[in-house]
Amino acid sequence: MNILHASSEVFPYSKTGGLADATAALAKAQAAAGHTVSIVTPLYPGIAAAFPDLEPLGQAEVPAKVWRLEPEPNLTVLFVDEPRWFDRDGLYGHGDDAERFIFFSRCVARLAKRAEIVHSHDWQAALAMPLLGQARVGKVFTIHNAAYQGRFPAEKFSLTGLPSDCFDWRQLEFHGDLNLLKGGIVFSDLATTVSPRYAEELLTPEYGCGLEGVFQAKGKALTGVLNGVDYAEWNTTDNPHLAAAYSADAHEGKAANKRALQCELGLSPLDDVPLFGNISRFAEQKGIDLLLGALEERLSDGTAFQFAGLGSGDAGLEEAMRNLTARFPGQVAVKIGFDNGLAHRIEAGSDFFVMPSRFEPCGLNQLYSLRYGAVPVVRATGGLEDSIVDLGQGDETATGIKFADCSVEALRQAIRQAVALYADPPRLAKVRNNGMRADFSWTRTTTEYGRLYATIS
Ligand code: ADP
Repeated sequence: MNILHASSEVFPYSKTGGLADATAALAKAQAAAGHTVSIVTPLYPGIAAAFPDLEPLGQAEVPAKVWRLEPEPNLTVLFVDEPRWFDRDGLYGHGDDAERFIFFSRCVARLAKRAEIVHSHDWQAALAMPLLGQARVGKVFTIHNAAYQGRFPAEKFSLTGLPSDCFDWRQLEFHGDLNLLKGGIVFSDLATTVSPRYAEELLTPEYGCGLEGVFQAKGKALTGVLNGVDYAEWNTTDNPHLAAAYSADAHEGKAANKRALQCELGLSPLDDVPLFGNISRFAEQKGIDLLLGALEERLSDGTAFQFAGLGSGDAGLEEAMRNLTARFPGQVAVKIGFDNGLAHRIEAGSDFFVMPSRFEPCGLNQLYSLRYGAVPVVRATGGLEDSIVDLGQGDETATGIKFADCSVEALRQAIRQAVALYADPPRLAKVRNNGMRADFSWTRTTTEYGRLYATIS
């Protein structure tokens, strides 16, 4: 099958979050399964220098230069090179994001000529769905996060090149504005999201972000498919970022990674206290305020534990994390910024990984944590609910600790449970091993997408 993906970020060329990992790994797995796969993505600064093998794509009917790279057999990455829109720092959050990503989606639609399936991801690539209109191609749209919709003033609609009757409340109009995510959902043959639980949640006002009616109208054409992990990238046995290799069968190296992480971040070099990790965008979604509250309480009541954090985003949350680090030196260390290598080392060095998300479409960090032996402590929502088995299910199958309420108190209790688990080494080893042996590889996910594609092609 000839599949064309469109995504505004693709690892290792660009990344702000899980979208980059998910699209890269899905495309790679589909190519490995024998499909002919392309991914269209913008050419951001630094990519051309880091990947000197880029070649010009001839004869593309696209209003920009396009470069191609073939990182794997059957897999081509197509970079849309338009310096006016993409040669700048920061992927999103510019005043002209409507212009930038409407342009990107128009290029995607032009590059889709030979594809049997066009699979767009999130609002930045959503407009390709209506632009492809009646073209003889299967149109798939994946929502990685419904909270980001690409909502812009109505006058931006004229940039889309679509007939004016598409600016209608049943199509791209949303309360008087242009809503690109909505257009992707409405015009796709199949809408998918990144976990079965989130697919159910999207039907409710609590999680649907105003689009619950649009999701409901999709009926059976809305499906949840859990993301997978690229274990070639995220592994503990052959990983240049880690201090020592380890695995479910040989965990000695885990302790060496914990000690290396403590040294790197300036935490006290202690073996007998649990180390909690978190890597996150500092956004309301991720429950960083809950994490701060629960950590503060646990630190004040003298609980023996350490915390290693990495993230950036909301300025107030960054400041609060800096303060906590300053007040509890040796016990708390938070690095503000984006650092892929440190993300691997926090996963490898932590005993527990905390994700108190208010909502979590899939979440990749808990899947990485399972493989890295950092027992996930998660709020039971979206992909976290689908991928983690709670301690309460029994030691034979448990892989983590789940809590239901979105509150500091619930997280505090969950941390208490984790500290108790740490004090019971045989039980901790069992739960950790269950997680390390769990398989969330893309093979299963790719098969599921293949089945879905077959229903529309
Ligand atoms: P989301 O896509 O909502 O941000 P996910 O859990 O799906 O959350 O994916 C987050 C991805 O981004 C993970 O690979 C995580 O390691 C990475 N990540 C997030 N913040 C940082 C950071 N500050 N430094 C390095 N990697 C980060």
